[in-house]
Amino acid sequence: MSRPAKITVDLTAIQYNYQLAQALAQLSAPSLAKSPKTLAVVKADAYGHGSVEVAKALTAQVEMFAVSCLEEAIHLRNAGVQNKILLLAGFFEVADIDLGIQQNCEFVLHNHVQIQTLLDTSLDNPITVWLKIDTGMHRLGVSIDTVQEVFAQLSASKNIENIRLLSHFSNADDLTSDYTAAQVADFNACVSSLIQQQAKAKHCELSLANSAGVLAWPDSRLDWNRPGIMLYGLTPFITSHPEADKLIPAMTFTSQIIALRNVLIGESVGYGNTWIAQRDSVIATIAVGYGDGYPRTAKSGTPVLVNGQRVSLVGRVSMDLICVDVTDLAEVEIGAPVELWGKHLSANEVAKWADTIGYELVTRMPNRAKKEFIKCK
Ligand SMILES: *Cc1c(COP(=O)(O)O)cnc(C)c1O
Repeated sequence: MSRPAKITVDLTAIQYNYQLAQALAQLSAPSLAKSPKTLAVVKADAYGHGSVEVAKALTAQVEMFAVSCLEEAIHLRNAGVQNKILLLAGFFEVADIDLGIQQNCEFVLHNHVQIQTLLDTSLDNPITVWLKIDTGMHRLGVSIDTVQEVFAQLSASKNIENIRLLSHFSNADDLTSDYTAAQVADFNACVSSLIQQQAKAKHCELSLANSAGVLAWPDSRLDWNRPGIMLYGLTPFITSHPEADKLIPAMTFTSQIIALRNVLIGESVGYGNTWIAQRDSVIATIAVGYGDGYPRTAKSGTPVLVNGQRVSLVGRVSMDLICVDVTDLAEVEIGAPVELWGKHLSANEVAKWADTIGYELVTRMPNRAKKEFIKCK
């Protein structure tokens, strides 16, 4: 009865991927006194997987979740999620400070306006803050040469009980780049000089690793790790990697063939007549399109699985439909199952054909396609 385009989110895969992240975090820098912790990043509706369901599946294993903003945290609270939540961009206005504290959230402080605002308010109880240091991403964070001063101000404030230090990588998904090692070195040097001048800093917990760091940069695994994309089973790397290759994709995007036709050599398929048959062909039409989140930028040739076999997208992606060339399949019928991406065809591979990355494909899924969850027992 209903339109067959559907998203299935395997929550057991997310639990497995989280455990992999946590196991890698345990192999962190031996100098760490305490056992490292692994935040689960569930911003942007858990990268399109459904933040409430994902958070509930992880709630017992995870100390803390991370989201981008207070609205995302409140969405989780309204659904009954109780774990602490880190706001990765902190607060945007002064009223959000009290609201965030009430909602059991912690703030990243990334700029001087936020820091001054917090110093100027009067809180009932002192809080933990996460001071973000810019080690080369040049997007958020205070610059290394102001860290001493900012740290001194924060640690002297009666609003602040505990300071954690973090930074973010700009290029850790490139395994051949030496920029990540340089960011780790700059972060460590910054922390060391802080400790030399301000004894309090010795007790600060540290946080660097995103998924790429957790998977491939052992020196970045510190007190708090912050994996996102790997929890959803997508590798951040272009090339294969022994740890990333163990991840299980959580999102499967499926539909069905709803029409079949013969197209003669020289005839075209789809809007703009961009694809012309180079041979007499059998063309299958699938009930999925950019209105369901399949990228319109996907080019002819993009792989699609029909009955578990690879075929190629032909012509432009429409709002509700795509066409594929099934000439080489021995058997194909209306109603045949189609996987657009998932466990057998990586969203990352499809993304490459659409000039984007797997992160974007899964995150920007509209609500149109039904979402179903596979839950653990
Ligand atoms: C989104 C985000 C992460 C997670 O990054 P992944 O590449 O998805 O693992 C970690 N830290 C910060 C600050 C982020 O914004």
